[in-house]
Amino acid sequence: MNNKGKTLTAARRTFLLAAAVFAVLQTSACGTPEKLVEQAEASSGGNAETEVSGETSAGEDDGQTETAVLTFSEEQSHTGDLILVSKEWPYDFEANAGLQLVRILDAQTYSYPVSKEEFTLAAEIMPDLDAMIRACDEAMGTEYTSVSSAYRSKEYQENVRAEYKELYGEEYVQKYVAEPGKSEHHTGLALDMGIIYEDGSEGTFSESDNAAWMAENAYRYGFVRRYAEDKTEITGISNEAWHFRYVGRPHAAYMHKHNLCLEEYLDFLAKETWPEAPLAISEGGRNWKVFHTSLKTILEPEGNYTVSGDNKGGCIVTVEEPAS
Ligand SMILES: [Zn+2]
Repeated sequence: MNNKGKTLTAARRTFLLAAAVFAVLQTSACGTPEKLVEQAEASSGGNAETEVSGETSAGEDDGQTETAVLTFSEEQSHTGDLILVSKEWPYDFEANAGLQLVRILDAQTYSYPVSKEEFTLAAEIMPDLDAMIRACDEAMGTEYTSVSSAYRSKEYQENVRAEYKELYGEEYVQKYVAEPGKSEHHTGLALDMGIIYEDGSEGTFSESDNAAWMAENAYRYGFVRRYAEDKTEITGISNEAWHFRYVGRPHAAYMHKHNLCLEEYLDFLAKETWPEAPLAISEGGRNWKVFHTSLKTILEPEGNYTVSGDNKGGCIVTVEEPAS
């Protein structure tokens, strides 16, 4: 029987190779994602479906194709810029033990006020945060934009709840202060913006022009206004004009453009995308391909990519396309 001449489309070929590789590797050990190079058998025992024949003649690779593979661990699905942290999906402190925090006042490259000097955030978001606050101040012609809350440990969140209960009562706490373990502030990727005037007095951010500017422009820096008025039924959190969350530039851009909160965006990615059918996102002259997967192993994407869990058992892979 002659298998030559069977030409598979690129997508079909990728799928078949991924399936073959997945079958080989699905028992691999858990750990951080690692790149494995496996010899994926291009043809064996008359399995014509894994035969790869392109336009060039066969035989140049001895019938074997070297395939790089990306493996995801259970832990991986609970870490990264896109994890959902909510009443339903608590934060996994153990999986995130390696979270790199920095004191904002030590790391900032643009001087803006911070309500408490010990406040910290994830180191990776500092350059984008600095750029966002600087741009906001420049647009306002003032320098009042401040950070009024940042990373919170589990203990800190317990204290915040106790403090706010005393100040504002149980109803307020139920409405605005998440239970320990269920706050986005544990991620180091979320913060509350504030207003601090030159004399040190505090303004109300939600009523400021800064809030309106930031709601419109945060996506340019990889942030989203996380709890909007029209999404309270989905997020379970009341309208918070001050709370911003870093998700990364392509994701923030897509969510902003299509008015999706994180819950909706993650659902959309899980339903509508997979390795062979990514979502294309363009923003600021850069292009990305984004897809969700629940598989433990996929073919390694070509080019620069990052992986984030969704905190619901899946992972999102973001591949930046080379600049043309
Ligand atoms: Zn907040």
